[in-house]
Amino acid sequence: MSTLALFGGAPVRSALFPAHLTMGAEERAAVDAVMASGVLSQFIGAHHDNFLGGPRVRAFEALWAEMCAAKHAIAVNSCTSGLYAAVGAAGVDPGDEVIVSPYTMAASATAAVAFAAVPVFADIDPATYCITADTIAERLTDRTRAIVVPHIFGQPADMDPIMALAEQHGLIVIEDAAQAPMARYKGRPVGALGHIGVFSFNYHKHIHTGEGGVVTTNDDDLAARIQLIRNHAEAAVGARRPEDLVNMIGQNYRMGEIEAAIGLEQAKKLEELLARRKRNVLRLEARLSVLPGFTPAPSAGDHVYYVHPIDYERAETGVSRSLVLAALRAELPAAELREKEGPLIGAGYVRPLYLLPMYQKLKAFGSGGFPFVGGDRMAPPDYAPGLCPAAEDAHENRLIHHEIMYPGLSDADMDDVADAFEKVAEHMGALRDAEQRAPAA
Ligand SMILES: *Cc1c(COP(=O)(O)O)cnc(C)c1O
Repeated sequence: MSTLALFGGAPVRSALFPAHLTMGAEERAAVDAVMASGVLSQFIGAHHDNFLGGPRVRAFEALWAEMCAAKHAIAVNSCTSGLYAAVGAAGVDPGDEVIVSPYTMAASATAAVAFAAVPVFADIDPATYCITADTIAERLTDRTRAIVVPHIFGQPADMDPIMALAEQHGLIVIEDAAQAPMARYKGRPVGALGHIGVFSFNYHKHIHTGEGGVVTTNDDDLAARIQLIRNHAEAAVGARRPEDLVNMIGQNYRMGEIEAAIGLEQAKKLEELLARRKRNVLRLEARLSVLPGFTPAPSAGDHVYYVHPIDYERAETGVSRSLVLAALRAELPAAELREKEGPLIGAGYVRPLYLLPMYQKLKAFGSGGFPFVGGDRMAPPDYAPGLCPAAEDAHENRLIHHEIMYPGLSDADMDDVADAFEKVAEHMGALRDAEQRAPAA
C-alpha cells in the first residue's frame, strides 16, 4: 500500500487533466458570420421592431424555449441580470419578502435586494441541497411575495409541492436553473415548472457564451415585463404596456449577436455534453459508493452535475473532512487552463448567504439599513448564525464537491479520480493517527 501523497508518497496522478472545452468549429463559424454582417447587436431601446433584438438573439430564444418546453425565452447578458428582471417582473414592492436558499450563488438572493425587497432564507434538504416546500412553509409571512428556488449543483428541486404551496399563497416562483440546464423533474425540463426560470451561460457553466443568460416563462404578461426591464423599460413602456408601471425601471440586460450565435451552437450540443457528464459520474460512483464515509448524491433523479456533491460522514472514518480533503487534493492534479485553482475538488460550496457582510451589517442602499429595515418594517428578518442548520452543517462538515467529471474526461481519467478516493479510504488509519498527534483546527 503506497504512502499517501500528503505524507510524501507518489500521487495517484500528476499529469494535468485535459481542459474543459466546449467551443468548436461551429461556434467559430457562427461568430465569423456575425462579424461579416457588421451588426453585432440589433437592439433599440425604444418602441420599435428591434426592441426585441437581432436575428440570432431571436433564433436562440426560439431554440431555448423549445428545449425547455416554455412559451417564451428572453435572452439576457447574464443569469444575474435575468434574476433581477424576474424579481422585478414578479412585481415585488419595497419591503416585500422573497424566500430563497442560503446555499446558492449570491445573486439568487441579491435579486430581491436590487428591488428593495428582503431575502428570507429557508433551509436546504441535506439529501438534495435544495430548499423544499416544508422549509419554505416555515418562512411564510404576510409579506412573502415570491420564492427563488435554485436547482443547486444540477439537482432539480422537488417542484410539485413548492408550486402547490405557492398557488395556495399567491406567490410567484422563480427557478434559478443556472446550474441545471435540461435537468428534468418528473420528465419535464426545469425552467418552465415555476412561473419564471433563469439560466446562465457564463464561462463556468455546462455551456457558455462567455457571459450570458436566458429567462423562460409560459406567462405572456411576465414575458412582456421581462423584455421591458431588459431594455430601458421607462423609455419603451408607454407604447407597450401603459397600464402597469410597477418596477418598470429599465436596465440594459441585452445579449449581443455574437453571444447569441455562440449560444445557438452550444445549445445544440448540450444533451450530448450532459450525457458525457452523467456517464463519467456513474463510472466514479460505482466505486465511490462502497467506500465508508463517502455517499455520492443520489443519481436516480435527473441531476446534470454542474458539480458532483458527495456527503462525507466523519463518524464513519474518524477523520476530519479538512484532512480527508487535503489527502484527496494531494493525490490529484489540476486541469489544463485552470492550473491556478489546483485540483477541482473542494469542501463546502459558499458560506450560507445570510452570513455575508451585507446581511450581517444590514448595509445595502445607503447606511440606514434599507431595505432590511425602513418604511413600516421595524426589524430585519433573522440572519443570525444557526438560522439554517442543514446548510451550515453541509458547509462546515459534510459536503465534498468536485468538477472532475466534465465532458472531455475519459474513462481512464475517471478511474484516476476513483483511485484517489480508494487510496485515501485505505489510509484512514494513518490520517487518524496524524490527526491525533496534531488535531485539525
Ligand atoms: C452562475 C450562477 C448564477 C449567476 O450567473 P451569471 O450568468 O454569472 O450571472 C446565479 N445563480 C446560480 C445558482 C449560479 O450558479
